[in-house]
Amino acid sequence: MAERVEIVLVYQSLLGIYGDRGNATVLAKRLAWHGYDPVLTVVEPGDPLPDTGSVYLLGGGEDSAQISAVRALQADGGLHRAVDRGAVVFAVCAGYQIVGRSFTVGDNEEAIEGLGLLDVTTTRGPVRAVGEILTRWEGHDGDEQWITGFENHGGYTRLGPSARPLARVEIGVGNCNDGTEGAVAGTVIGTYPHGPVLARNPALADHVLGLALDTTLPPLPRPELDELRRQRLVAVRRSAR
Ligand code: GLN
Repeated sequence: MAERVEIVLVYQSLLGIYGDRGNATVLAKRLAWHGYDPVLTVVEPGDPLPDTGSVYLLGGGEDSAQISAVRALQADGGLHRAVDRGAVVFAVCAGYQIVGRSFTVGDNEEAIEGLGLLDVTTTRGPVRAVGEILTRWEGHDGDEQWITGFENHGGYTRLGPSARPLARVEIGVGNCNDGTEGAVAGTVIGTYPHGPVLARNPALADHVLGLALDTTLPPLPRPELDELRRQRLVAVRRSAR
């Protein structure tokens, strides 16, 4: 019987406006292609996060929703328990800021405490980062891969000593215009691109799954996805600001 693997999509009502739900669809589909039995659990504030997930997904959201989400997640405690038992947290944009140490929103200089799962701090940047983004990621086994996506954030993120960048920026702002994008510590990954990013970048999707399953998944040749990647790469280069 195929191994059951649970993907937990966290707070769609608060962190769902940038279409990052697609990351859950991609992970579930790829799990099935790899021969697993995927289960998708969608959790809303007020409901406890399950302690059975292999991957927990957080998406982008508006400033006020982001504050509600971090408070609910702090009260729940489930993401810390998940990380303690080796589950993966994959967090995009507002989600990325939430799993960090602290963030500010709007013109408010007061830092709001994050979950502290990543050693990153977010404050307002000089200009909102909006547009296509292209980065280079080291890949699962050290071979370099392009990552494309769309960034849209006013917060700029700085990494502390115990987080390392996910990728290097070729086009776009990324963390804070310092040439880095995203952050990684153990099984926690934060990143800015929407897209959804795991749809545009299947190697990153399989890396997330491999981390959760403690295995290296074999490549799944999909010419249509290679073509999508080629087209996105051309589009990002064309739109270079
Ligand atoms: N509210 C956050 C910011 O502007 C996150 C935005 C987002 O999730 N796209 O920085």
